[in-house]
Amino acid sequence: MSPPVFRFAPSPNGYLHLGHAYSALLNARMADEAGGRFLLRIEDTDRTRSRPEFVQQIFVDLAWLGLRWEEPVRIQSEHFADYRARLDRLWAAGAIYPCFCSRKQVLAEARAGRDPEGQPHYGGTCRQLPRAEAEERMRRGEIHGWRLDMARAGDAAAAVWGDATIAKFNVGSSYHIAVVTDDALQGVTHVVRGKDLEAATPLHMLLQRLLGLPSPFYRHHELLLDERGEKLSKSAGSTSLRELRESGVTSDVVRRRLGFA
Ligand code: GLU
Repeated sequence: MSPPVFRFAPSPNGYLHLGHAYSALLNARMADEAGGRFLLRIEDTDRTRSRPEFVQQIFVDLAWLGLRWEEPVRIQSEHFADYRARLDRLWAAGAIYPCFCSRKQVLAEARAGRDPEGQPHYGGTCRQLPRAEAEERMRRGEIHGWRLDMARAGDAAAAVWGDATIAKFNVGSSYHIAVVTDDALQGVTHVVRGKDLEAATPLHMLLQRLLGLPSPFYRHHELLLDERGEKLSKSAGSTSLRELRESGVTSDVVRRRLGFA
């Protein structure tokens, strides 16, 4: 039997904090204990938020923590063609449709309810477009994203996500399609990530079903809280590993604090 494959897959849109360190160390330890492999993947499909210096810092921070990972590291922005191929397949199967609505239109037609990313559930205008018309509009170069046709998918994820966007306007990908594609291409067997992503898992499992891909085992760990009991996050300006290191904290201290002494 081939060994289990774990991965840590940060998005380089800020510096890593203790929560990321916990997740990375946990994956590496589980891989180690199971005689498995540990991969690092850079999830930088969101070109507006990703920055090269954050990518570099991820390598520095993880090495500082004493982690080792397999090379080469998969950098998602180098693989848009792979995500595009999955979208084409879903479109050919009628599982997704292009959405030409502006943000304003989406808001105007929104149904009650928001998805776990805070986006309003889509009213469905572009779902009704005849295929030939949708193709023609794409040929003319009209900007569009891609949405899952949840009514067709007949999946429990529908109530939570509505017709979720799986490729953003002119990006040709999204976190969801990229993560599912790469976990399959890299043979990931165990996805261990924070509870903040738990709501995305049914959506990922739906995409795996539609694409004929195996579903890995999923486990969602607790999120670390700061002194005020708020979850650590880049946006809340939680102390980064880089700042800790620069202020003289050693990686041993960090590992001990997180339970990986
Ligand atoms: N790239 C995602 C993030 O940093 C995590 C992806 C995953 O573990 O599935 O939030």
